[in-house]
Amino acid sequence: MTVSGIVKSSLIDFPGLVSCVLFVPGCNYDCFYCHNRALVDGPYEVLNPVYIREFLEKRAGLLDGVVISGGEPTLQPDLKQFAQTVKGLGYKLKLDTNGSRPEVVKELLKERLFDYYAVDYKAPGAEYPRICGAGARADKVLETVRLLLDSGADFEVRTTVYPQLREEELVTMARELPVVPRYVLNHYRKPEKYKSRDRLKVEAPPYTQAQIEALAETVKKYQPNVKL
Ligand code: SF4
Repeated sequence: MTVSGIVKSSLIDFPGLVSCVLFVPGCNYDCFYCHNRALVDGPYEVLNPVYIREFLEKRAGLLDGVVISGGEPTLQPDLKQFAQTVKGLGYKLKLDTNGSRPEVVKELLKERLFDYYAVDYKAPGAEYPRICGAGARADKVLETVRLLLDSGADFEVRTTVYPQLREEELVTMARELPVVPRYVLNHYRKPEKYKSRDRLKVEAPPYTQAQIEALAETVKKYQPNVKL
């Protein structure tokens, strides 16, 4: 698996666990507020696989978990084999995914390799191509969420509340999703790198904490397990 970046220790990326985070390059979406633009558009670094392997071996027993994030990890052809290796070292595994490849998640669920999944639901279904790029399809993401729900896997769905996302759109999203075990509303932060055509969008003022709390209260009717 190609790894382009690593956070060696994190308390916030894997609920309840101390983890490291591995970032893989490449994504099939093009979200205007992406925080990993270099992983999507390049050029990106490729870390030596021997370094990654030795890092994971040395930290086994010191770190609880490994988060595979991106970019979009389900595009990596050897994700399953890599996960098997990491699991073999005794780590808990979490996958961050945009949910666009339910067929890959289905395979991973069969193998029970991952202990936790985080799936992004980024826009009302009809707006997916506008927010995530041409070809992005919400039905695939919803299929991924249903697979996770039916499998009994531990997972969360996340939505970044970007400035242009209106309350009625968030309500639509909450209604489009089945009720999920954990629905996380993430604060929007302006990305460091973005496309010049998106400047006005990324520079729009973000929702305040109080506004997001009010949005969460509204969404609770449809997603009772909403978290901030
Ligand atoms: S799915 Fe994630 S990595 Fe891909 S473009 Fe969107 S925010 Fe960036």
